[in-house]
Amino acid sequence: MPTSSDSDDGPRVPIICPECETHARIPLGDVAERLENHNERLHDGEAVAEVDPEVKESLADIVAEEMGLLEG
Ligand SMILES: [Zn+2]
Repeated sequence: MPTSSDSDDGPRVPIICPECETHARIPLGDVAERLENHNERLHDGEAVAEVDPEVKESLADIVAEEMGLLEG
């Protein structure tokens, strides 16, 4: 495994899975894939794990900010 250069490689999004009582912070770019994998493996493809609802609303802002940064 390569050493991860950690910390500030972008915004992280908290995800939760009420059934597994899983809480994790996932880099924004990996969230969709991680959720899909988790739900696929553990919940027969049901969308059980999801982005923390408290953050979901502000997620649009985070993404918009990212896009803004990328656009430069
Ligand atoms: Zn789960």
